Order: sequence, then C-alpha cells, then structure tokens
Amino acid sequence: MSFTTVRPASWQVCLTCGSELLETDPAVRCTGCGGLLEVRHRPPELPGAVLRTLFQTRCCTRPDTTHSGVWRFRELVLPGATDEPVSHPEGNTPLLYRESVARWAGVPDLFLKHEGHNPTGSFKDRGMTVGITQARRIGAQAVACASTGNTSASLAAYAAQAGLPAFVLVPAGKVSMGKLAQTVGYGARVLAVKGDFDACLRLIEASSAELGLYLLNSVNPFRLEGQKTIILELLQQLGWEVPDWIVLPGGNLGNTSAFGKALEEAKAWGLIDRLPRLAVIQAAGAAPFAAGFEQGFRERVRVDAETVASAIRIGNPASWDRAVRVIQATDGVVLAVSDEEILAAKGEVDRAGIGCEPASAASVAGLRRLAAEGRIDPHARVVAILTGHMLKDTDRLLGGPAGRKKAVREIEPTAAALARAIKRDRAG
Ligand SMILES: *Cc1c(COP(=O)(O)O)cnc(C)c1O
Repeated sequence: MSFTTVRPASWQVCLTCGSELLETDPAVRCTGCGGLLEVRHRPPELPGAVLRTLFQTRCCTRPDTTHSGVWRFRELVLPGATDEPVSHPEGNTPLLYRESVARWAGVPDLFLKHEGHNPTGSFKDRGMTVGITQARRIGAQAVACASTGNTSASLAAYAAQAGLPAFVLVPAGKVSMGKLAQTVGYGARVLAVKGDFDACLRLIEASSAELGLYLLNSVNPFRLEGQKTIILELLQQLGWEVPDWIVLPGGNLGNTSAFGKALEEAKAWGLIDRLPRLAVIQAAGAAPFAAGFEQGFRERVRVDAETVASAIRIGNPASWDRAVRVIQATDGVVLAVSDEEILAAKGEVDRAGIGCEPASAASVAGLRRLAAEGRIDPHARVVAILTGHMLKDTDRLLGGPAGRKKAVREIEPTAAALARAIKRDRAG
C-alpha cells in the first residue's frame, strides 16, 4: 500500500520490511513478512505549547472520556478515531513520593508512578481501552489474548464493557488467584493451557485469525499507543520537565516499546526538549533481554522462564525488536535482579504504605542496584514505574500457610488474650 496523496491521520508500518497498512487493517502483524507493526501518526497540527495547555484543561474537568488519562492525549494516541472510545475511564494514576523508599533505593529524588491504580489494577488498562476501541472500529466479533494474568483481567473488563466475547489463554497453574478471579468475574472464557506463557502466545497467534478472534496481546500495535500515555501523563505531572531516568520492569517488552515511542514523539512534536534514559529490569530467571543487552544485542535470546514475579515470567519477549531500538535510542540499560532482591524491594514498597505486586517491585530493586553500582547518579531525578496492584498477587505475600500463621495470630475472644497479644507485639 502506498499513499500518493495526503497521508491520513494515522497508518501502520511494518518495522521489518517497511510495508504500510491502513490504520483500520485488522492484521496484527505484517501481512507480507509477519513483522511487528507500529502505528504512525501525522504530526499534530498544534504546536507543543498549545498541546500542553489542551491536555491540562482536559485534566479533571468533565466526567466524560476526556477525563481519561489515556484519551486526554487522544491527538497522540488515535487522532483519526471519531467514535466514542470504550473507556472506563482509566489512567490518572498518582506520582508518589516516599522518603523511605527513596532512601532505600539510594536516589533521594525518586517518584513512583503507580499504575496499579488503574481500574483492573495494572497498566494493561491503558493499552486495552485503545485495543478494544480499535476492535470495535474494525468490526471484530470476538477478542482474545494469551496472558500471565493482568492482560486477561483487563481484556475481560473492556470486552465486557464493549459487549464482545473474550477468550484468554493462560499457563495452567501459573496465574495468581486474584487475576483469574477478575477474568472469570468479568465474564471471559478462560482456557488453561498445559504449557508456559510463551506456548500460550504461540498458540493464540497461530490460531486467532482462523478462529475469527481479534488478537489483543501487546504485539497488537494499538495496545502500545495507549500505554504511551503512562509517559505522557508522568511528564505532565512533572510539568513537562524531563526526569533523568525512567525505570520499569520488562517482560514481553510492550511497555518498553511504548515508552520509547512516546518519548521520541513527545520530543519530535515539541512537548519535551530531551529524552530521559530508560532502565529496563528483568527477573534473573526470566532475563533474555538483559542477556541480549550484555552481548550488544547481537542475537535474539530465548530462555525457559521462572521467577516469583509472575507478570514478567516470559522467556521469549514478543516486542524484542521494538525494544532493542528503544534501548539504543534512549541510551538505556537492561539489568537482571534476583527474586530475593525483588521481594526485598516489594517489602520496602509495601511497608511504605503503597504496596505493589512482585513484578512491579523489580523496578525499585533494579534502581537500587544501578545506584549502588554508580550506573545511576544518586543526584538524578528518577521515576520508577509500579506496574500492578498489591492485591494482584497475594499468593506469596504471607509466605504460605506457615508465614500466615505467624503474621496473623489467632486468639481467644477474651480481654486477657487480647491484652497478652498486644503486650507481646509491643515488646517486639
Ligand atoms: C504486563 C506486566 C509487566 C510487563 O510488561 P511488558 O510490557 O510485558 O514488558 C510488568 N508488570 C506487570 C504488573 C504487568 O502486568
């Protein structure tokens, strides 16, 4: 396809062979070579300063979709869409400061952007509002995804709102009860595949077209357009002052890709004047991207993934190529941290009264290590992304039945037993 006349507001381009597709083409990969697609937009007609004011006036004003932390930025997300989006609304997540966490991480100027405050408890809602809106635009009859849990919860919620049947493939026995309960409660059909996440994704990618299912994994480029707004919103919250570093966990690398695209567009379109550096943190048992980074990305690495951080238990990241480009463009780094480091960071975030799921804590764990190793300057301004809510993954929280017994003590219903228990605890 070629555009000989005026370009439409948006189109899709294959990142491998450069072919162009219409914005409304339902293919989620290049129909020629199978490469990953990216949505491209004509630069907005308004200059950066005017856009910043526009986004600001839309913030917290009317109870319609402009209140959404995604659709507030619609000129940069889906400028050509005229239909009403399928929006909860979502986004508008807080930028938190806690001295104890900043001190523990070794970076005093640290903000935590808590995406667990989204409607289904993870950043996936930002991508899903756009993905489901696009599913409607192209007339999809049913939607599907493979998931480690959060994508399925989000897909189920937005599909329910749009009235679309939803099918999710999860690795059998590997998804937390909280995430499964959400998915089932919102009415999606859950299929537990006897295999890992990577097997689920392979299966649904191979079969979705034939089964008439619109695929909403993060290979779908419209999901990434929504996830860009994590960056746009945090920049807006910082008065468009660019932090030095943004730290995030990496699994399938959809978010890494979306962050890079958001930053490059924001710079090209006059919203910011420089790029921050990105630090992507993986769990040591699921760290193919960190291994690739160490070798200068000479080749694509695949591993059999295992980690307590189930949301990033991914061995063959789908957005590898996109993410490599982002690390190169932002002079970024990729690091692996152990499960022990992740759980220690989670303990700090939890005890600061914030809380997050294990995968989210990887960003704080990675930041602590990068600061300790001098790779992040202790005077830098850093934003760490907390990707999911504390209640998402409670299976590990209390350390199994033995830990639960210690943390939650049973007592007789008497004043004496109560006094004894309290005295013992206050004595330490
Ligand atoms: C999906 C998810 C991630 C990983 O994001 P990718 O885009 O797959 O790299 C991290 N944390 C949580 C809580 C998630 O749900």
